[in-house]
Amino acid sequence: MLNIVLFGPPGSGKGTHSAKLVEKYNLVHFSTGDILRSEIAAQTELGMLAKSVMDKGELVSDKLVIDMMRNKISQNKDKNGLVFDGFPRTTEQAAALDKLLAENNLSVSAMIMLDVEREELVKRLQKRSETSGRADDADIRVINNRIDVYNRQTLPIAEYYKKQNKFQNVNGMGSIDDIFDRIVKVIENL
Ligand code: ADP
Repeated sequence: MLNIVLFGPPGSGKGTHSAKLVEKYNLVHFSTGDILRSEIAAQTELGMLAKSVMDKGELVSDKLVIDMMRNKISQNKDKNGLVFDGFPRTTEQAAALDKLLAENNLSVSAMIMLDVEREELVKRLQKRSETSGRADDADIRVINNRIDVYNRQTLPIAEYYKKQNKFQNVNGMGSIDDIFDRIVKVIENL
């Protein structure tokens, strides 16, 4: 199975390239952000807990996110592969993902980091706010907080995957097609 962690700051293109990976390699896509937003739309208890945290650009609790992913993984262990988008976001989540996969005799094939300059991230997220309807895209302070939270709480996970020799850095600047070609090259060389 090809199990990819697609990694990078908000606005780095994780959603865009996850969709392209799903199509090319017939993978199952897990975006914790999308799952949380659908919980909010369905007004579930989980969604209620997550909403105010997400609107501020902070991270939802590890326990909540890990519990949410547990079922998803066990229900999809016989597929071609999985692409994780926006998860893990803390080292605790990274360790939990390894554990959840191991319980199903699976493992992460590679962690691919999309490297994008901060100025470009802000530009992309502001542009996305015109169509996304997302409160966290509409406020420049929230955008900046999300990037800060990423640098502080999420970026350290890179070390976790470097230690496992699973870390792959991809230049995330340029055209979508060029960036996707770089991602495919990494995967073909695994
Ligand atoms: P982006 O990558 O643009 O920030 P996401 O849809 O991945 O968009 O995430 C939106 C928000 O959802 C995050 O700011 C955070 O509040 C919450 N979230 C998503 N995934 C996680 C996660 N793995 N752990 C904690 N919070 C998460």
